[in-house]
Amino acid sequence: DQMPDAIRERVKNHPCYSEEAHHHYARMHVAVAPACNIQCNYCNRKYDCANESRPGVVSELLTPEQAVRKTLAVAASIPQMTVLGVAGPGDPLANPARTFETFRMLSEQAPDIKLCVSTNGLSLPDCVDELLQYNVDHVTITINAVDPEIGAQIYPWIYWNNRRMRGVKAAKILIERQQKGLEMLIERGVLVKVNSVLIPGVNDAHLKEVSRVIKAKGAFLHNVMPLITEPEHGTYYGVMGQRAPTQRELTELQDACGDMNMMRHCRQCRADAVGLLGEDRGEEFTLDKIDALD
Ligand code: SF4
Ligand code: SF4
Repeated sequence: DQMPDAIRERVKNHPCYSEEAHHHYARMHVAVAPACNIQCNYCNRKYDCANESRPGVVSELLTPEQAVRKTLAVAASIPQMTVLGVAGPGDPLANPARTFETFRMLSEQAPDIKLCVSTNGLSLPDCVDELLQYNVDHVTITINAVDPEIGAQIYPWIYWNNRRMRGVKAAKILIERQQKGLEMLIERGVLVKVNSVLIPGVNDAHLKEVSRVIKAKGAFLHNVMPLITEPEHGTYYGVMGQRAPTQRELTELQDACGDMNMMRHCRQCRADAVGLLGEDRGEEFTLDKIDALD
């Protein structure tokens, strides 16, 4: 694969970023971020954000204090827990007070735990300085398009500068903000992974270009995730019969982006996932159980 040694060293105990580490190290997500500042056609707001998580599951929403208590309880019983992420259920950076309060408390109370965050990127340029204060060294940006015409088929609206904006104009602003946020993070030495949702007939032919652009700007990993169209998740907004990609289409695209380091073991975890990738011990650490520990 294409990962430079210096980056490999930095991610060696991060289960998501190192194929080897995902058997030995655990991660957890805390769901502290309910709001979102854009609409993705594949999102159903009743469920978790597809920036990072498997859409179609509902997470237990926590306050920052509850999230910290939960993290400390998990870290005490799962010593391999190296990474704490905020990944939803909405967009973490559209909830800056809740997300940053969680990071602030954790950076004080559990400085050894690495922090990461996923975002649609709209607020990212405004948040980079604060992210750096809490030693957030991994950020995931979901970038589904670099062409506003294609973006407009994925994002019906954004809410930006106190206004709702629609269409190609809105997609153009979102894409510019994502790219600017990506550049700012790379400049400051933050590791950036890019997630893209593969939507057949919408951005399938375009994602190679996305991969090329983000690699050129210095993202270290590209994670192409299949659109999930399970019945309980509802239809792709406004499009009847939008289908998910086949495993073969996904693999072919990942192979076609061969110049970039591609992530192939993402499990699209829940916004409140706990444990090794592929296992979910969240049920052991629900709030009532953690409250009972006090
Ligand atoms: Fe839904 Fe996440 Fe998209 Fe927001 S960014 S609309 S929460 S999928
Ligand atoms: Fe890692 Fe993917 Fe799960 Fe995020 S959703 S914790 S990147 S495996």
